[in-house]
Amino acid sequence: MNPLEAQLRKILELERRKGYADTAVVGGLDRYLKNLIQRDNLGPRSPITESIMLLPTHGYASLPREERERWLMRTLQRLSGAAERPTTAAPTVQKARAAARRPSQPLARPPVVVPGTASVLERPVTALKGVSTGLAAKLGRLGVATVQDMLFFFPRRYNDFASIRPIAGLVVGEEQTVIGTVWSAKDTPIGRRLRGTEALIGDETGTMRVVWFNQPYIAQQLRTNERIVLAGKVTLYKGQKTLENPEYEPLESEELLHTGRLVPVYHTTSGLAGRTVRRLAKQTLDTYADALPELLPTDLLSRNGMPPRAAALRQMHFPDGWDDLKAARRRLAFDELLLIQVGVLERKREWQERGLAQPLRLSEETRRGYVESLPFTLTGAQQRAMTQTLADVARERPMSRLLQGDVGSGKTVVAAAALLAATASGAQGAMMAPTEILAEQHFHTLCRLFSCSEKTVSVATVRPAYLSKPLTIALLTGSLPAAVKRELREQIAAGEIDIVVGTHAVIQEGVTFHRLGLAIVDEQHRFGVMQRAALREKGRNPHVLVMTATPIPRTLTLTVYGDLDVSVIDEMPPGRKPVQTHWVPPDERDGGYEFVRRQVQQGYQTFIICPLIEESETLTTRAVTQEFERLSNEVFPDARLGLLHGRLAARKKESVMRAFRDRRLDILVSTAVVEVGVDIPNATVMMVEGAERFGLAQLHQLRGRVGRSDIQSYCLLLSDSPAPDSRERLQIVERTQDGFALAEADLRLRGPGEFFGTRQSGLPDLKVAQLSDVSLIELARTEASRLLDDDPDLARPEHAQLREEVSRLWERVTAEAH
Ligand code: ADP
Ligand code: MG
Repeated sequence: MNPLEAQLRKILELERRKGYADTAVVGGLDRYLKNLIQRDNLGPRSPITESIMLLPTHGYASLPREERERWLMRTLQRLSGAAERPTTAAPTVQKARAAARRPSQPLARPPVVVPGTASVLERPVTALKGVSTGLAAKLGRLGVATVQDMLFFFPRRYNDFASIRPIAGLVVGEEQTVIGTVWSAKDTPIGRRLRGTEALIGDETGTMRVVWFNQPYIAQQLRTNERIVLAGKVTLYKGQKTLENPEYEPLESEELLHTGRLVPVYHTTSGLAGRTVRRLAKQTLDTYADALPELLPTDLLSRNGMPPRAAALRQMHFPDGWDDLKAARRRLAFDELLLIQVGVLERKREWQERGLAQPLRLSEETRRGYVESLPFTLTGAQQRAMTQTLADVARERPMSRLLQGDVGSGKTVVAAAALLAATASGAQGAMMAPTEILAEQHFHTLCRLFSCSEKTVSVATVRPAYLSKPLTIALLTGSLPAAVKRELREQIAAGEIDIVVGTHAVIQEGVTFHRLGLAIVDEQHRFGVMQRAALREKGRNPHVLVMTATPIPRTLTLTVYGDLDVSVIDEMPPGRKPVQTHWVPPDERDGGYEFVRRQVQQGYQTFIICPLIEESETLTTRAVTQEFERLSNEVFPDARLGLLHGRLAARKKESVMRAFRDRRLDILVSTAVVEVGVDIPNATVMMVEGAERFGLAQLHQLRGRVGRSDIQSYCLLLSDSPAPDSRERLQIVERTQDGFALAEADLRLRGPGEFFGTRQSGLPDLKVAQLSDVSLIELARTEASRLLDDDPDLARPEHAQLREEVSRLWERVTAEAH
C-alpha cells in the first residue's frame, strides 16, 4: 500500500471510530478527498479514485449514516485489497460486476473487487451536474441513460470552426470563427412573423451584422462591450457579410467548446439544444473519461500507433484536428472489432477443444474413383474446396467450415466427397436442408452422384465401384408416414443407414445417430453458433460443413462467421449461359408480360416475385394474392399459375413448389420466400416486381433460380417509379453476374443489418467501426489471435478489462440470438 493509501486508511478508521459524523478531518472528508485527487495524480485505477467515484455527486457529507458506513467499509476493503490486486479471473469479475450493479448491498457480503471503476460509469445521467429528470428523459430518447452512454454518444459530424479570422478577412460561404466585441444586441422582429436577435459585432478590422432567427432571448444574454466568439457560415445579406444563427460563447470561457475549433454536432431531440448536449459531453469527459478503464495492453497500442482509450474518447468529442479525430476513430473502431474477434476466436477454440472428432479418411484411390465416375470434370475451385474439406475432416480437431459458392457452382459434389469420407471411416453422415423439397433434391442428387441403382421414396442403396461395400442413404422428412419415420429412426440409431438426408427440423429434433461423424448444413446462412452447439449434442463431436449460396463478403466471413474456416467456390462449371438481366421501365411492362407469354408457349416456366412489404406480412400476403388474381385473370388467363407466400402452411408450400418442379404450373407467383436451392432447370424467366425494394444480393439470389441449364434464361427487373439511385443499383445487377461483387456493394450501400435482415447477423451494434473496413478487421483478427495465443483465457491483469468486456458483449449477443 502506498503512503497516500495508508494515510487515507488511517483517516477512515478514525472516521469509523467517531461514528461516521464526518469529523475525522478538518473541513470534512469530501474536501480532503478532493484535494487528494487534485494534488496527486492518482489515475483511474487507484483504489482511492475508485472509492471516490462510488460516492454520489454530492459526496460523503450528503449520505445518511448507514450509507456512509457502507461506503467507508467498502473503501477500507478496497484499500486493503490493493496490495494483492488484481488477479481476478473472469467469472469472479462477472460476479463482482453483477453484485456491484445490485442497488444496495448488505455489509455482510464478502469483499468485492470492482474492476476499474465501471460501476460509476453506470450511474444514471442525473449524476451529471445540471441534469434534471426532465433533461434525463430527453437524453433517454437519444439512447443515453448512463454516464457511459454519454461518453459513447458520439457526434454525428463536426463543424470546422478552427480557423479564426478578423472580420475583414471573413470569406463568404465558409465556416469560420470570429472574435469581436458586442456593440449592440436587440430582440427584434425578423421578417413578417419571426422574432429574433440582431447584433452588431466589431473588431479592429470592421463590424458585421449577426442574426439569430427565432431566438430573441439571446439578446438578453449578450452584454454590450462584452467580447464574444462566434462561429458559423458567413453569408451575404444586402451586400453585407452576415453571420446567421452562429454558435457563440464568451471569450472568457476557460476552453472554447462551441467555436474556434472542430465543434462536435450531436443528434438532438425536441427541447434539447445542441449546445446543451455539447456541454454535457464535455462535462462527462472531464469528470469520467479517466474512470473508463483502458481496454488494451500498452504494447498492443504502441505497436499499432493507437492512442489510449480515454484520449481517443476525448478526441472523438472534441478533436484537436482532423488527424486526431481519425486516429481516435480508428482506435475506437478497433476496440469494437477486437471484442468481436476475441469472441469468435474463443468460440472456435471452444468448439475445437470440447472434444476430439473422429478423423474421417478417404483413401486416394476411392477419391479418384469417385471423381472419375462423375459425368463432368471438377472445376479448379471445386477441387480446391474438396482438398480443403477432406484435409479438415481427416483431423481429430472437429471441422467447422463454411463452403460458399454461388448458386449452381457445384457445392453438392464437394459435400458428397466428405460424406464418402465419413462412411469410408465407419461413421454416419447427415445432410440437412431448410425445406423438404430441398432435402428431396439432395437425396436425388446424391443418388445420381453415387450412381444409385436401387431406390424407394425414402431409402436408396448405392454400390459404387470405388467402394468396397454398399452405401445406404435415407431421406427423412416430416411428411413421411409415421411408421416409416419410426423405422428409419430405428435404423439410423442402429447404424444401418450411412447417410441421412432431411430437414433441419426433423434431424435435429427427432433423430439419434449411432455414430454421427459429419453434419452438412445447406443453404443456411443463419446457421449460427447456437445451432452448431445443438448439433454437437447429436454426435460426440461431428465435423460440420455449412454450405451457402449467398455470397458473403469477406469482412462478414471474418466477423459473423469468424469462427468458421472458409472455402469458396468462385468459378462456375463451364457452359453456363449468364442470365440476361434487364431493367424494364414502367411503360414497357406489357412487353415484359408478352415475353413471358412466349416463353410459356415454348414450354418454359417463369417466376414472378412480388416484394415483401416491410411493415407487415399480412399486407405482403394480401398484395401477392391480389397480384396473383390479377395475373391469372387479366394477364395470363391461358397459363397455369401457382401462388406461394410465407403465410401458407409448410405442407401447402411444399406442394406448390412440387407442382412447379413437376411442370404442372407454368408461372409461380411468389414472395421472396421462393426457396434458394431449388433446382428447376426448365425455368427460364425470373421477373421481379418492385425490384428497387430488394437488396442487390437478394436480387442475385432470385436471379439464380433460373439459368440452371444450357437454355438461355432471363431476369426482368420491374420497378415502377425508381428514384435515380435505385435505378443505379439495379444497373449494377444488370451489369454484373458476380455474386460477391454484388454482396460487397450491398453491404456498402445498405449495411449488415439489411444484408442479413434485421437482427439476424448475430453481431453487436457497431458505433464506430465499419464492416466494410477490411484492413482494420484483419488487424483486429491478427491482434486477437496474438492475444489469445499469449494468454488463452485472458487471465492476466492487463487483460482483465478486455476479458470482462468480451464476456459482457457476447452474453448480450447470445441472449438476443435466443
Ligand atoms: P449448388 O452449388 O447450387 O448447390 P449443385 O451442387 O446443385 O450446385 O450443382 C448444380 C449442378 O451443376 C448440378 O446439376 C451438378 O451436377 C452440376 N455440376 C456440378 N459441378 C459441375 C462441373 N464441374 N461441371 C459441370 N456440371 C457440374
Ligand atoms: Mg445446392
